[in-house]
Amino acid sequence: MLLGCIADDFTGATDLANNLVRGGMRTVQTVGVPSKPLGDDIDAVVVALKSRTIPAAEAVAQSLAALKWLQLHDCKQIYFKICSTFDSTPAGNIGPVTEALMRALGCDFTIACPAFPEAGRTVFKGHLFVGDVPLNESGMRDHPLTPMRDANLVRVLQAQMQGKAGLIDYTDVARGPDAIRARIAALKAAGVKVAIADAVSNADLMHLGRALKDMPLVTAGSGVAIGLPQNFALTGAAATALPRSTGYRAIVSGSCSVATHTQVAHFVRHGGAARAIDPVKLAASASEVEQALAWAKPLLPAGPVLLYSTATPAAVQAIQSQLGAGRAGQLIENALATIARGLVDAGVDQLVVAGGETSGAVVQALGIEALRIGLQIDPGVPWTLSLGARPIALALKSGNFGGEDFFVKAFQVLQ
Ligand code: ADP
Repeated sequence: MLLGCIADDFTGATDLANNLVRGGMRTVQTVGVPSKPLGDDIDAVVVALKSRTIPAAEAVAQSLAALKWLQLHDCKQIYFKICSTFDSTPAGNIGPVTEALMRALGCDFTIACPAFPEAGRTVFKGHLFVGDVPLNESGMRDHPLTPMRDANLVRVLQAQMQGKAGLIDYTDVARGPDAIRARIAALKAAGVKVAIADAVSNADLMHLGRALKDMPLVTAGSGVAIGLPQNFALTGAAATALPRSTGYRAIVSGSCSVATHTQVAHFVRHGGAARAIDPVKLAASASEVEQALAWAKPLLPAGPVLLYSTATPAAVQAIQSQLGAGRAGQLIENALATIARGLVDAGVDQLVVAGGETSGAVVQALGIEALRIGLQIDPGVPWTLSLGARPIALALKSGNFGGEDFFVKAFQVLQ
């Protein structure tokens, strides 16, 4: 294993794995620290944690446990995957986890860089831009858990660190790997432990990647991963090649995001077999799940079926005020996960899931511990194949990802 990654959330882990696969690395994503061997035809492992917003001490403990597993499997370099909007608070978790990993690795310097220009995340003079606006003017300003009110990442990082934070300025990044290495040497001499790195283009990420060749730890969003595969001697085996799935096809959607609405509408408009799951009926009777499965099973041989709770903001609000937001979400996630399980038992082995939390619930219900990452369907969303006795092809799409035709295109990509 060449690259061992620790991701602070599940869909971010997939995003990173997708970039590594695009760079030619055969990549497996695991749900937490793996309990079983993953096989030996793997270049990179991404251990997906849920550590972004938990207390810093817990995030450190979980990350160190993941590191231990990766070290046991001889990973040459460690990548701590953070959010591309640097989601964190003065208490952490980017600073504390990075410093703990550095201590465990005996590493005296690393970078922290959330830049991913293809996704509209650029860093200039240490300031993070989301699309055309500074971080503190983006929607992240009002995030419920990690409101980002300062675009100056050196300042944001410094508040979370015991050691000194610094900056690898754009003028050095643009001049290439040698200039970046010289800047790193100067920062180290000045006592800096972690430096924010500027990057506004893929060319910058490639320069950074080359300069980071011998760095034991890299803290970054998924963008920096674009520049790392060039450092490794890869076998040349096709990283996206997954065994063919030949069973039934289905889509389960618990996402109420705008993009998902258009995808559901597109699927229905094009004659797809679709059934809405009504949370009011779910709350009243458990037989709603059985009825949904009884509806779906006879239709499976004819093509993909869609089961969805995707609903308008007004409908969501109505059920939330009846049950409470937490209970409504849980009820629907459980129902969709049970439906997914029932579909797989009925012979589905190509499954699209829409919704980040919904995906987590489905993966758990299917008992999946690790996924091999395959071909990208739309930016950031690849097909994956579960490892284990009965492999299932899964496309896990969080909220606003994917084009309007995603539910149709996904199965075409798999052919
Ligand atoms: P996204 O990635 O779009 O945010 P998630 O699956 O992460 O989607 O989150 C959607 C949440 O909304 C889940 O907890 C889900 O159970 C809940 N939900 C889905 N449909 C409805 C609905 N009709 N009414 C209320 N809550 C819903």
